[in-house]
Amino acid sequence: MPDLSLTFLGAAGTVTGSKYLLQFGRANYLIDCGLFQGADDIEQRDRQPFYIDPRKITAVVLSHAHIDHSGYLPKLVKDGFRGKVYATQATRDLVQIMLPDSGKLQEEQAFYANKKGYSAHRPAVPLYTARDAERALRSIRAVRPNEPIEIGDHISVTMRRAGHILGSSILEFSIALGRRRATIAFSGDLGRYDRVFMKPPEPIAAADYLVVESTYGNRAHPATSVEEQLANVVNRVAERKGVLLMPAFAVGRTQRMLYHLRRLQDTGRIPEIPVYVDSPMASDVSDVYCRHSEEHELSVDLLKDPERCPLHAHRLRFVRAVEESKKLNDMPGPMIIIAASGMCEGGRIVHHLKHRLPDPATTVLFVGYQAEGTRGRKIATGAKEVRIHGQWVPLRASVETIHGISAHADWQDTLQWLSNFTAPPRLTFITHGEPDAREGLAQHIAERFNWKVETPGYKSVFPLEI
Ligand SMILES: [Zn+2]
Repeated sequence: MPDLSLTFLGAAGTVTGSKYLLQFGRANYLIDCGLFQGADDIEQRDRQPFYIDPRKITAVVLSHAHIDHSGYLPKLVKDGFRGKVYATQATRDLVQIMLPDSGKLQEEQAFYANKKGYSAHRPAVPLYTARDAERALRSIRAVRPNEPIEIGDHISVTMRRAGHILGSSILEFSIALGRRRATIAFSGDLGRYDRVFMKPPEPIAAADYLVVESTYGNRAHPATSVEEQLANVVNRVAERKGVLLMPAFAVGRTQRMLYHLRRLQDTGRIPEIPVYVDSPMASDVSDVYCRHSEEHELSVDLLKDPERCPLHAHRLRFVRAVEESKKLNDMPGPMIIIAASGMCEGGRIVHHLKHRLPDPATTVLFVGYQAEGTRGRKIATGAKEVRIHGQWVPLRASVETIHGISAHADWQDTLQWLSNFTAPPRLTFITHGEPDAREGLAQHIAERFNWKVETPGYKSVFPLEI
């Protein structure tokens, strides 16, 4: 019987760099292919040679489009991977926008580092370029949800809705050889049961081995209404004619914030001040979100109508051209600027922060998770100054955070999803969480289900039984 094993090449004690290597005999399957993000020593992992020769990887399966799950793919292809990549149609549509953008961002960061001479490794070289990303896209095959698809000898995968972002999937692998079989399920990033925006995760009833995420494994999302918190901040900004900077992931979070702003405007709870989505990517992604209505809780008819679309706030402008983005610098408030990246590590938000953080009329509003070591985390936790493009920028703006707005299950959602299992998995691996969160979820699972759990470390290998 060929050996079966699982190796954790990312999201093990961190929330980024999701990559799991499932080895069966001589075949190597990579589940997710994410970039590491955050502290320099973590990001450096992407620059080290890959764990195995990429040419020996049989296939890659993506749970969803977020860069910490898909962003390493161009590097893998650049380094010799020639197999197929499986993903849902919506994930494919999203990575077509996101991966070239990620390549462009890498090129820009290297360019800035070289121009200002602050690169730690000189000259700075992009991990991959937009062109590398375009090339990687050609390997992607769209898979229909809920139908098993053969990805190699004796192995198939079924994708089921995870409800986290558009196209996100729970992955169920089934290996069958003669009478022996094993199923290995990956939760991917798991969505919520709040039914605000996305449909909830689909249940699965059994798996021999389970890999479950734990981003919010030790936290419960507060019941305080997100819209109430948002309305308070927007009203304060509008009164003082200030500028609201909202760093937001271009994929999922921007669309959800537009949805909340639209509802607040429609019900007169906030004034209709101009809203700029300063991100070509978020603009393109918004189109994809309106096209794939199958995963939303929203009305299909409304999504098709640009005027009435619930994902378009009133007085909304999608800013694509760089010139128009620069003009925003000279414009007075009140206004709202939504821009990526969500953790302020790159993208146009960085330019807005550099320009407006010293101004007390600015409010920075965090609407998403800020990983340890990121610029966003520093701003959100009260830094007096932050380093941007090699310069120290003083922070005189107000900083606010909306709690409870998350595309991730909290521990109660996760337990609700796990309660669909009719028998305990032989072993449950807890990943994709910082150490406290992961321990928190381990404890909740032990208390509620008494399952056997593991908290794997980076590069740890586990033999699986078949
Ligand atoms: Zn995600």
